[in-house]
Amino acid sequence: MAELPNWRSALEALARRFPRPQTPWDDPLAFVYRYEDTRDRAVVAYLVSFLAFGHVRAIARAVEPLLDRLGPRPSQALVEASPTDLRRWVHGWRYRFIPAEALYGILAWIRDRLDRWESLEAYFRAQVEGSPSLRDFAETHGQAGRQFFQRRVPDVPRVKARFLFPVPPRSACKRLALFIRWMTRPAPPDLGLWDFWPRAWVFVPVDTHLAFLARLWGWADGRVPDWTFMEQVASVLAALCPEDPLRYDYAITQLGIRRLCHRRPELRRCGVCPMRSVCPYPAGSDPSG
Ligand code: SF4
Repeated sequence: MAELPNWRSALEALARRFPRPQTPWDDPLAFVYRYEDTRDRAVVAYLVSFLAFGHVRAIARAVEPLLDRLGPRPSQALVEASPTDLRRWVHGWRYRFIPAEALYGILAWIRDRLDRWESLEAYFRAQVEGSPSLRDFAETHGQAGRQFFQRRVPDVPRVKARFLFPVPPRSACKRLALFIRWMTRPAPPDLGLWDFWPRAWVFVPVDTHLAFLARLWGWADGRVPDWTFMEQVASVLAALCPEDPLRYDYAITQLGIRRLCHRRPELRRCGVCPMRSVCPYPAGSDPSG
């Protein structure tokens, strides 16, 4: 791997080429920006994070009718909702392989957090303070969600509950990382509403593009972006920018999204890529096979 300062200057060039929009528009975070109240923002961000997989337009089609049903104050609506209300809100809803019953479970899970902790902030603060490590935090969150689904929505197949509440070491828990990023990182468009997140816990939302490039650049190995993979990427990003480890991940994913870099070496545009001075594969060989 090239020297860190060389990576830093290449990534700065990449970040200038693909600056992160200050206001999200093609991102599930855009839904959260519709709300002013911090409790509503937390509830909508958490809810949307469960569904943050697939194409952003498909996510929007799934989320829009749900937010319509929750009304202008989603946090209050959930606190006051009866099980019948929850059933009514999810009636006829489906997103890909997530059926209405699973969405009912997600809403009931969030409502239960609000009942018991009064706010998602209080719930997550308690989870963070009770966890000796980031991995322990993610595992506790996932296991608690799975147990809740088993008890309260037993008709939801176990495989779907496991998808909604992944746990290390098999998963990098990307959607939970995304939610935590939105709520804790203080640089726009992230909201930075929660100040209790430990600086040493670098939780990277590893999507398919970041995973591909991390392998290509030798930042991480393994075919599956699991928890160890996430930790490897996190340690490189933390070394590159200790004060803001998630500074570059948006720009990196844009390399894949905008097809500057491609799984097929012959389609890569290395000649105009800001990473060509540090990338070990500008000539086109592909370590991912
Ligand atoms: S292979 Fe080429 S296009 Fe891909 S990151 Fe490296 S230099 Fe950029």
